[in-house]
Amino acid sequence: MKDSYEFLKSVIDTIAEHVVVIDNEGEIVFVNNSWVLFGQQNACLINKTWEGVNYLKECDKAAAMGDDVAAKAGSGIRAVISGVKKDFYFEYPCHSPDEKRWFMMRVTPLALQGGDFFVLSHHSIVERKLIEEEMLNLSRIDGLTGIPNRRYFDEFLDNEWKRCNRLGLPISLAILDLDHFKLLNDTYGHQAGDDCLSSVGKVLKDFCKRPSDLCARYGGEEFVIVYGDTDLDQAKVLVSKLLKKIRSLNLPNEKSPTLPTLTASIGLASMHPSYKNTENDLIKQADKSLYFVKEQGRNNLSFYWNSQQLGPE
Ligand code: GH3
Ligand code: MG
Ligand code: MG
Repeated sequence: MKDSYEFLKSVIDTIAEHVVVIDNEGEIVFVNNSWVLFGQQNACLINKTWEGVNYLKECDKAAAMGDDVAAKAGSGIRAVISGVKKDFYFEYPCHSPDEKRWFMMRVTPLALQGGDFFVLSHHSIVERKLIEEEMLNLSRIDGLTGIPNRRYFDEFLDNEWKRCNRLGLPISLAILDLDHFKLLNDTYGHQAGDDCLSSVGKVLKDFCKRPSDLCARYGGEEFVIVYGDTDLDQAKVLVSKLLKKIRSLNLPNEKSPTLPTLTASIGLASMHPSYKNTENDLIKQADKSLYFVKEQGRNNLSFYWNSQQLGPE
């Protein structure tokens, strides 16, 4: 028996993956060199020496402190030990202060003379995860303006709506539409129109500084801004400045009946999320506000607060 332990240990010590072998109670019986190093370098699961440590109990302790990764690891290992699952693997983040890291943990049964054991191996999947992250970021960005696209806006608004609902915070949404943009394209060409859209995208970015803010290209010459934890008065100040800033770009649109330079109209809606409304109501109200501004002559803003139209002032 001792020989087979020694043999196994000498084999797993040569493996670059971080490997630990536990018995069916969760007691650690082997660790390889790479595992010891891993434990010293990261604070993810367990970071002490391994003699006499029960892996499952360590997972339980961490789970009780709210560590979801440890909870998932513990239940997966138990599923394999009890035979409910043949094997188990999952991917988890384990970022250090200066490096993004992810690992894949795999649990496989190992029948050895003298008892049932289980191999837990952790290997780095950083390269794949970084590529996945990059692809995800690209899929969220509008190619022309470099700001988030409508898909990401939907996702962001959904999360921000829920967060504000949970915390009892107000949320504001502005829909911005460039005025007489067709005339601008017709006068100066589509390329000049594209350049204007890029310039407007840059301005919008400057108006979305907090983690709870997001600007996006909604489609064509329409943009949206979400301001989480922001009520109507605060949002009004921001979007009024934004309209001014767009005018101050002085982008020519000489055939526009509004002004000979590019202007925009904004429909703004703010509300406190509750069980009575959804984020679609917020979008609908901002849309109605925008329609109103366009009707009233453009180059302005109109606003709703909790379903009541209050402005323009
Ligand atoms: P309004 O003030 O009523 O909004 O008038 P408008 O001309 O801006 O609105 P309309 O909906 O009639 O036309 C929108 C124009 O925006 C027409 C379309 O060619 C232009 N547009 C949409 N997407 C792009 C784009 O990606 N690049 C360029 N250059 N133009 C675009
Ligand atoms: Mg439009
Ligand atoms: Mg327009």
